[in-house]
Amino acid sequence: MKYFSTRNKNNIVDFRTAVMNGLAQDGGLFMPEMIPIFSKSFIENLDPFSFQEIGFETAKKFIGDEIGEQKLQEIIQRSINFPAPLVQLSDQLSVLELFHGPTLAFKDFGARFMAKTMEYFEKGSDKKLNILVATSGDTGSAVAYGFYGIEGIDVYILYPKGKISLIQEKQLTTLDKNITALEIDGTFDDCQRLVKSAFVDEDLNAKLNLSSANSINIARLIPQSFYYINAYRQIKDKSKPIIISVPSGNLGNLTAGLFAKKMGVPIEKFIGATNKNDVFTEYLTTAKFNPRKSELTLSNAMDVGNPSNLERIIELYEGSIDKIRDNVYSKSYSDEFTVEGIKEVYEKYNYVIDPHGAVGYQALKHFLSSNNLKNVNAIMVETAHPAKFKDVVEDAIQKEIEIPERLAVCLNKEKHSIVLDSKFKTLKDYLLSR
Ligand SMILES: *Cc1c(COP(=O)(O)O)cnc(C)c1O
Repeated sequence: MKYFSTRNKNNIVDFRTAVMNGLAQDGGLFMPEMIPIFSKSFIENLDPFSFQEIGFETAKKFIGDEIGEQKLQEIIQRSINFPAPLVQLSDQLSVLELFHGPTLAFKDFGARFMAKTMEYFEKGSDKKLNILVATSGDTGSAVAYGFYGIEGIDVYILYPKGKISLIQEKQLTTLDKNITALEIDGTFDDCQRLVKSAFVDEDLNAKLNLSSANSINIARLIPQSFYYINAYRQIKDKSKPIIISVPSGNLGNLTAGLFAKKMGVPIEKFIGATNKNDVFTEYLTTAKFNPRKSELTLSNAMDVGNPSNLERIIELYEGSIDKIRDNVYSKSYSDEFTVEGIKEVYEKYNYVIDPHGAVGYQALKHFLSSNNLKNVNAIMVETAHPAKFKDVVEDAIQKEIEIPERLAVCLNKEKHSIVLDSKFKTLKDYLLSR
């Protein structure tokens, strides 16, 4: 499969280049030349397929022959090695749980698949690959765990000192081996600026083989379509229309769902739920795209002021906002409604959701009631485990929640980080000395 840049259809590269470069040279995002379509009989007979087999069949179509079947199977087995169950809460409502990976958020799917794919393309090269990634929390840990222990690839995670939660920091700083946590005395924007400066610095590029692991990489998007197809497999009464609500920030998760829909999964409608950072909601309502600075909310992984995957969604629907509106609805919710959502789901269904899931729940509930939909499969996507946001969730439901073993383990480990100031020269000297 060939990939083109959303900013120039003539800028065409192979899958390997799209993955290893991340972003196109013209600043665009890579899109597959065509969205592969599954046969009707495949979609209607998913029962005998496991989640991993669905992943393999999907990935094969997006990658073609650039990775041999046996290798691809191995990549899937090593990256998609935890489940994505659809849990029924009522006749109408179910939850797609995407938090069963090592860092308890859906980003594990994309980060792990991307890491193993990069490992494959990097093998045999005599030059070490150095991944630089700036994080405000969740991305960094998923990337760190994804690349952990991979030979020939070193990862440097830059995070703002004192500005991420204890749990997030512990996840980043307790791995060691090929993962180095750089604690930057500055803000998340400083971290991002440092990474961007490093990529364009001649001395660094002459000496080091640098790459990014940022969320716009197509190798992070492809595996996220697997769990939508797998969710369809798990639906018991497939005759009822399917509505899926996705808590959204950078719109990667939503885009992957729209890929699955285009591939032939009969999903009636997607909802891209946003918090106060409602650039996407506003775009669908007013047709105006007005990127702006992000604001802090309780669902902080969705605090995005310039959602980069919108370029992909627009491309997917040939630039027609009406077509986008046919497929996607969006609504935005404040922190107050977020807390209310956590409370309501707990009281109604005895089920604990996290702040991101709660935004998705509110938008789904609104969509169902305003369209008077009573006989549908309504699915809310739960993007993180509630224990990652323990304080907010416990406050809302007035009850203590348990921390899963894999999270508790890293909380007891010792933090290792290298503190650097936010000057580019400091980072540069550090990297050159390695
Ligand atoms: C990253 C993240 C989101 C937003 O996903 P996008 O693909 O950026 O829209 C939602 N919830 C959680 C928990 C996340 O980590």
